[in-house]
Amino acid sequence: MTYVIAQPCVDVKDRACVDECPVDCIYEGKRMLYIHPDECVDCGACEPVCPVEAIFYEDDTPEQWKSYYDANVKFFDDLGSPGGAAKMGVIDKDEPSIAALPPQNQDH
Ligand code: SF4
Ligand code: SF4
Repeated sequence: MTYVIAQPCVDVKDRACVDECPVDCIYEGKRMLYIHPDECVDCGACEPVCPVEAIFYEDDTPEQWKSYYDANVKFFDDLGSPGGAAKMGVIDKDEPSIAALPPQNQDH
């Protein structure tokens, strides 16, 4: 199990969650942030601080955003397990389904 970041984060990226994560497993892409499914320890600290409620426990992800589980996983296909987001900085890509989204407005 893991936590998942969903559509409300796209084009918002305020990074409040990053500061809460004890294992630094929330990685920043160009348009949203992604939780590493193997590095996440399911502590839940990130979920309540997201101002747009983009973070969900895997099993509690709303139906319309279920595909974001795969998006979070696939983001790491070519990255493996870096073992810490801070040293990576902003990663110059997004998972393809995220990259293809039209610009998201701010009032979700
Ligand atoms: S706190 Fe929410 S909106 Fe901000 S980066 Fe994290 S998931 Fe995205
Ligand atoms: S649940 Fe905990 S370990 Fe997982 S991403 Fe959120 S803060 Fe990090």
